[in-house]
Amino acid sequence: MQTITILGATGSIGSSTLDVISRHPERYKLYAVSGFSNLPRLADIVIKHEPEYAVVHTEKDAIAIKTLIQERSSRFSEKSVFPKILCGQQGLIDIAKESAVDTVMSAIVGAAGLMPTMAAVKAGKKVLLANKESLVMSGELFMKAVEEHGATLIPIDSEHNAIFQCLPYEYQYGKTQESGISHILLTASGGPFRCMMPDELENVTPDQACAHPNWDMGRKISVDSASMMNKGLEFIEAKWLFGVNEQDIKVVIHPQSTIHSMVQYRDGSVLAQLGNPDMRTPIAHALAFPQRIESGVDALDFFALADFSFEKPEKDRFPNLFLAMEASALGQAATTALNAANEIAVDAFLTGKLKFTDIYKINAQVVERAHNVTLARLEDILAHDEACRAYAKESIAEINA
Ligand code: NAD
Ligand code: MG
Repeated sequence: MQTITILGATGSIGSSTLDVISRHPERYKLYAVSGFSNLPRLADIVIKHEPEYAVVHTEKDAIAIKTLIQERSSRFSEKSVFPKILCGQQGLIDIAKESAVDTVMSAIVGAAGLMPTMAAVKAGKKVLLANKESLVMSGELFMKAVEEHGATLIPIDSEHNAIFQCLPYEYQYGKTQESGISHILLTASGGPFRCMMPDELENVTPDQACAHPNWDMGRKISVDSASMMNKGLEFIEAKWLFGVNEQDIKVVIHPQSTIHSMVQYRDGSVLAQLGNPDMRTPIAHALAFPQRIESGVDALDFFALADFSFEKPEKDRFPNLFLAMEASALGQAATTALNAANEIAVDAFLTGKLKFTDIYKINAQVVERAHNVTLARLEDILAHDEACRAYAKESIAEINA
């Protein structure tokens, strides 16, 4: 029996994880969950799965969730089944490193995921990593901590999970130089704006940006997919996860999202992982690794598949992707800056305070301003993240002035 903490249980990845877990009650026990703004959803999760712990943002939320749980289920008026409610970042860290926990699903969106994910790594857990932002913010330190503390890191991002599956077993972590690999081929759907001209992007709305053709995801990653910043963040994620250089990763647009990514070998072979676009596949793979379990995803029907097509990404349509590649080559301060700026810019876009095309401008200005800093410790990274958020807010105010 694996005991599991889900950081970000109320989100899209959290829900898919709960779905897979509930198909295998003999294998998995949910130990702890966290939520943030959607307390009714968290209450429903607690009632259905009866974890030992639930983490909310504030003390006020802790009181509210208790009331919600009691209102929704009479069973929970008994103290014996009531979970312990914890609050804030310390609560997240506690459920990530708790000794009774084997596996931590890191599915909080954004920089808020870094410290609890690090806590799971430092406690030597099996860490299922959906929160790509933690690697973008702290790649080298993060991977060092994985090695030092003997954590097992399995990527959940569908592309990285695919690459992981296409690598030889003994080379899954950073030994790619000796493995005969020529390139990692990171596939991208191109998102909802793949066929739009650059000047048409000026006035797109948040709802248009969040209407992804193939994947159903949270709003931040949906906007990142529309701008292809998501692929940029994934480029940086791949570099750290698999210990490769920038020139060893190629981005290929594959609009059907059936091939989730590929590894090209020196002998001419290309290994690909295919499947329907449903995150329950990589989640089930990571949960059961190295075994395989049923995930609830339909089998791929080859006879119903449309054409497989491939395109090169263009810089004038997807400048954020190319900015991320440049930031990756510049180093840690640049990618931390990029992540911070992008979180602020995407939030401003989603709340109607910034044009879609201005997300790139904010990101580029902050990377330019803040790439030349040395970040040796986690505290330096957090301080840099904070400073870059302030720079991004200044840039947004200037653009809107
Ligand atoms: P989501 O918005 O649906 O869910 C985010 C979760 O994070 C929620 O549970 C929310 O309560 C929590 N959260 C948000 N802000 C928080 C904060 N400040 N403190 C604590 N918790 C907070 O997002 P999602 O689509 O599930 O994505 C989660 C992560 O997984 C992201 O890093 C994303 O890039 C990655 N990811 C998602 C998908 C996908 O298909 N959805 C695919 C690959 C990778
Ligand atoms: Mg992905």
